[in-house]
Amino acid sequence: MPRLAEQRHPGARVPDPGDRGRLLRVRADRRMSAEETTEDFDLVVIGGGPAGLTAARDVAAAGGRVMVVDENHAMGGKLRGQLHEDPADSSWWKGWELAEQAEKDAVDAGAQMMTDVVAWGLEPGWTVRLTYPAGRTGGPSQLTSRAVLVATGAVERPMPVAGWTLPGAMTIGAAQVLTNIHRVKPGHRVLVVGMDVLSLTIARAMQLAGVDVVGIVLPPTTVEGSSPRATLSRLAPMAKLAPARYMRLGGHFLGWPWVQALASRLVPRTLRMWGMPLQLRTSLVVIQGTDQVTGAALVNVTADGTPIPGSEREVAVDAVCLANGLIPLNELLATLDCSFLRSPDLGGTVPVHSDTLRTQLDGMYVAGNTIGIESAKIAEKQGALVALSIIDDLGLSSRRGGDAAGAALDLVGARRTMEFQFDANVQRGHDDVQRAWEKSGGRA
Ligand SMILES: Cc1cc2nc3c(=O)[nH]c(=O)nc-3n(C[C@H](O)[C@H](O)[C@H](O)COP(=O)(O)OP(=O)(O)OC[C@H]3O[C@@H](n4cnc5c(N)ncnc54)[C@H](O)[C@@H]3O)c2cc1C
Repeated sequence: MPRLAEQRHPGARVPDPGDRGRLLRVRADRRMSAEETTEDFDLVVIGGGPAGLTAARDVAAAGGRVMVVDENHAMGGKLRGQLHEDPADSSWWKGWELAEQAEKDAVDAGAQMMTDVVAWGLEPGWTVRLTYPAGRTGGPSQLTSRAVLVATGAVERPMPVAGWTLPGAMTIGAAQVLTNIHRVKPGHRVLVVGMDVLSLTIARAMQLAGVDVVGIVLPPTTVEGSSPRATLSRLAPMAKLAPARYMRLGGHFLGWPWVQALASRLVPRTLRMWGMPLQLRTSLVVIQGTDQVTGAALVNVTADGTPIPGSEREVAVDAVCLANGLIPLNELLATLDCSFLRSPDLGGTVPVHSDTLRTQLDGMYVAGNTIGIESAKIAEKQGALVALSIIDDLGLSSRRGGDAAGAALDLVGARRTMEFQFDANVQRGHDDVQRAWEKSGGRA
């Protein structure tokens, strides 16, 4: 795969070797020694994304003994791959810089970090069972802690389609990691399948990196929610990110069902977004190729997603990126005595929790995409909120001040003013969880 020229990427930052050296030294000092097999903490955080790192920073600053574990080789979670342009002032959201800073802030506050380690089990009390990727040995097999925060983030929903196992076919998240973290182009001519906040921002990042994004089309008609009408409803919450004023205005009205119905019939077959063709009434049929991706078969569809016979055609591409939304990742909690609620507004099934992010289990907390798909800014706010709950429950005293109930209200306000949402009804999903929490009687 072709390497990206660093200077052609507007989000690229050549790290200052001095900075990096300082950060690594701080990290090394704070790491657990390989000989330790178990150790007691006030808080173990599972997942070093924006939610986990923010909570770790605040609880450590309040005097808590904190350990963050993450399965990746670097902290930061999905934040590390993010690159967006703010249409209001053309500033850049460079996730990898923010991730590095979030880790440094947590370490400076006294939190310890372990990377390349997977938490595979939780036992009440609390014991966190650990395992290591092949080849690494010598780390602790478990950690014991008064409190545990599950901040494991989200995973991509697969899109099974003929040809999806060919080299060159990948999820949109993989394309994001290749482009923004490894600075490698996913392909020369790329087709993006699926239209949502994530696929459009990552298509834009690929375009900025010099990739020819030949089209953004709808998923195969067999995929749930792939019709033009359903797709238009998903584009409404990202209206503020659109490059042109008419799109921002039009996107705002897409929140109304009758506008969606009308637009799905009248919208032009191809719209251009940042110059990339957004083919709102074209679906993928199959990915083509023998040893690798060489093309894709497409078909035009009606507003309700029915294929139009005779409109089949082929497009030559060397990579296809599949985007079918995100699912909250919370399987660790499924082994415990904890209820779950299914909420399409939140992206899937989430553990029932209070608005201050306590679960039904004493000493067990949740934050970030684990409890619903939202942006990194919201995950960070949830991290700060859950830290206040943990500090209170553990009898520590917060240096930052504030109370969890007030922070929970601020979070609701922050959602309203976010520049984009993954789902327009995300607050409705959180309200449903609150009702389930109250009905369940709260913490056991
Ligand atoms: C592929 C993908 C791309 C995304 N791109 C964007 C984007 O461009 N813009 C945006 O605003 N949002 C994006 N998001 C949403 C993103 O999840 C949030 O922005 C934010 O990063 C969520 O923060 P978090 O702390 O909840 O989780 P994450 O940032 O996902 O961090 C969770 C961390 O926990 C680790 N982990 C999970 N399970 C375990 C375990 N058992 N043991 C150890 N470690 C574990 C994960 O590997 C990860 O490092 C994306 C999400 C995904 C899945």
